[in-house]
Amino acid sequence: MKIETTVLANVLQVVDTVATDEISVLDISVDSRSLRNNAHTLFFALKGNNHNAHDYLNDLYQNGVRYFVVSQDVLLPADAVIFKVKNTLRALQNFVAFYRKNYHFPVIGITGSNGKTIVKEWLNQLLLPFYNIIKSPKSYNSQVGVPLSVIAINDQHNLGIFEAGISQPNEMEFLEAVIQPTIGILTNIGPAHNEGFSSKEEKLQEKIKLFKNADVLISEQTHLIAANKPQNPKWFTWSFIKEADVFFERNDTVLSVQFEKEIFQVNLPFTDLASVENIATCITVLLFLKVDKTYIIQAIPKLQTVQMRLQVKKGINDCLLIDDSYSSDYQSLKIALDFLEQQKMYQQKTVVLSDIFQSGFTPEVLYQKVGQLLTQNHVTRVIGIGNQIGSHLKNISQFQSYPNTETFLNDFNLKAFRNETVLIKGARSFQFEKIVSELEEKTHETVLEINLDAISHNLNFYKSKLQPTTKIMVMVKAFGYGNGSYEIAKLLAHHQVAYLGVAFADEGVELRKAGIKLPIIVMNPENSAFATMIAYNLEPEIYNLHELKAFLQIAENFNLFQYPVHLKLNTGMNRLGFTQKDFPALIELLKNTNLVQVASIFSHLATSDMPEEKQFTLQQIERFQKESTYLKEELQIHPILHILNTSGIYHFGAYQMDMVRLGIGLYGVGNEAKEDAQLQNVATLKTVILQINEVDVNETVGYGRRFIANRKSRIATIPIGYADGIRRSYGNGNGFVLINHQKAPIAGTICMDMLMVDVTDINANEGDEVVVFGNDLRITELAKIWNTIPYEVMTSISHRVKRIFYKE
Ligand SMILES: *Cc1c(COP(=O)(O)O)cnc(C)c1O
Repeated sequence: MKIETTVLANVLQVVDTVATDEISVLDISVDSRSLRNNAHTLFFALKGNNHNAHDYLNDLYQNGVRYFVVSQDVLLPADAVIFKVKNTLRALQNFVAFYRKNYHFPVIGITGSNGKTIVKEWLNQLLLPFYNIIKSPKSYNSQVGVPLSVIAINDQHNLGIFEAGISQPNEMEFLEAVIQPTIGILTNIGPAHNEGFSSKEEKLQEKIKLFKNADVLISEQTHLIAANKPQNPKWFTWSFIKEADVFFERNDTVLSVQFEKEIFQVNLPFTDLASVENIATCITVLLFLKVDKTYIIQAIPKLQTVQMRLQVKKGINDCLLIDDSYSSDYQSLKIALDFLEQQKMYQQKTVVLSDIFQSGFTPEVLYQKVGQLLTQNHVTRVIGIGNQIGSHLKNISQFQSYPNTETFLNDFNLKAFRNETVLIKGARSFQFEKIVSELEEKTHETVLEINLDAISHNLNFYKSKLQPTTKIMVMVKAFGYGNGSYEIAKLLAHHQVAYLGVAFADEGVELRKAGIKLPIIVMNPENSAFATMIAYNLEPEIYNLHELKAFLQIAENFNLFQYPVHLKLNTGMNRLGFTQKDFPALIELLKNTNLVQVASIFSHLATSDMPEEKQFTLQQIERFQKESTYLKEELQIHPILHILNTSGIYHFGAYQMDMVRLGIGLYGVGNEAKEDAQLQNVATLKTVILQINEVDVNETVGYGRRFIANRKSRIATIPIGYADGIRRSYGNGNGFVLINHQKAPIAGTICMDMLMVDVTDINANEGDEVVVFGNDLRITELAKIWNTIPYEVMTSISHRVKRIFYKE
């Protein structure tokens, strides 16, 4: 849109005047790394706890961005148009709220503790035949995500569906102003503690602010909502237990629906409680919108599971696959292309893309925009599948097209994919999962799923405990505590952490080969690896005189100049590190050389997780402060000082110094229950049931006949064993797995590659998913049963278990 700068300045509430008449804004952005930033992008420089987009404005200018919304003084060439405001996030929201006012069709706003995304996606599936819908991509529901969703509205749309999520008081009014919903939906209100509220009432009162100007609120009929709902909107309700506009009764897999004195039956596609409630919400919305019951009866059973994930998988011929084979709207293509750039391992980027539905644009306009997006993102090769994309995207370079997925699979030589990062993105009807399954490296069914969003969440949690200036080093040693190396390192690079820490040089080499450019410290450098470390620009921890002399020798051979090294002091752990008696010789060696420079001085705490040892921890910290100060003065240097690990950050934040070293917390495990409650689970170890055997009374199961059936039993065999990292002592009834959210105790002895579980009392079938640990059975709980610590459980999951990385 073309917009007069005076108008824009007014909307953004600028504090400085802007000298230009009119600018043309075609896109907005808050991501300095996105490749689609260009001359017509209005860039909002957001400030986070540890991230400040103002630091990247010059890079953005170099990439062609000219319009900036900032909140601090910046120095940019004269043709940059700068809007200075008090708060850039509020300016973003104000801008989108202003944009939103141009449209007057019904807009559904959804909030609640759980089910927002599912209800949004299901309503989209159900209402598709009747409307041109604009909806939030993925689960974009935050203070930033909502404006980025709403800005995509255009003239062609006639229904909006947006979700809003909040985590603390006083956030909803801003989302309300952006979405301006006319129809409100409240999904449910979970326990208060899982978001930052002190009571359920407080949480509900905050959430329902989304509906204050809506025409109608659709929700379950409950006392709590009745007592708290705003006056304005009409209330349209559903219930399973009492009188409501829509009354449901459930009989196993059939839902009977009573509305305006009529009763009809719907077959349920999903039968777990949460899904049934979400279906009830959707049916109520359809009835409110006067959708005919015959359509409801035939459409509900066809609802499909909602899959929002972008998964990173290892492909054939060293390819890296990004699997987004469940959605194809234009908004989520933008997100997927940003993610492709963030995760890419190779220069060669290939995109396999189906026809795009529901953009609100005519095909000509849509594919012109898609073509631009692909070009801006430097995609090397595009394979279009579908009739529309084939005829409209011809003009971009390296484009091949196929009418459908079958033809592509038959005619294309899949083996030709090699050393490239491949994004596979298509609408569900194209069944791109077939392409993914052909290109995926084959391994057995057991996988460790890693939630990249949870890692980001956990990183931000610890950041929030630190001063904005405190650097963060993340420990990715031991294959990222068993979770994965370069995939996690790429994410950390994206978050711009200061350092990565590995245990051995070869771990650092692997990261460098995958294109990681962050500074990397090797904690256990072996003399034999010094030359390799120098070749790959890895920085050694130096912990004694013998090692220092050896490194200086190599440094001289390589003619190094001020190569960064990190001095470790032993302040009580008594593992590695210099003590005071070494100082005279240490100072002597370092004073007289220019071969290396001390980039940091650090020490490691032995008891930061033990409240009863607080005195000892403080003693270590004090000793470190004294000794590091002495070394700094003697050597006349200004190194980074650091001592805190995860539990140190949590308990001893006052001693964060210049940097902290975050380890286990990033992977979702704290050292006490309160800390755990604020972290998100990262890893889920999953497998499937291979076979179920019926076993008679007195029959036995497994090696040594250790399980003896005392009743007729059903025994399920699953393909995971001690060679995958499951403790053998977990067998014989000591441990259990989860199948369909129910506990199944381990029956008999754990084998090398398999184990058996008793499923007599639960609902389980061959092929069902089995969870060994994850969100519902946290690693901490497992570690207790294994009589060890979570660190050991995490790092003992064998490398033959495939890791799959995903992002919601
Ligand atoms: C592993 C390690 C850390 C991280 O410890 P966590 O308890 O996992 O946070 C920090 N510093 C050093 C020197 C380490 O070896």
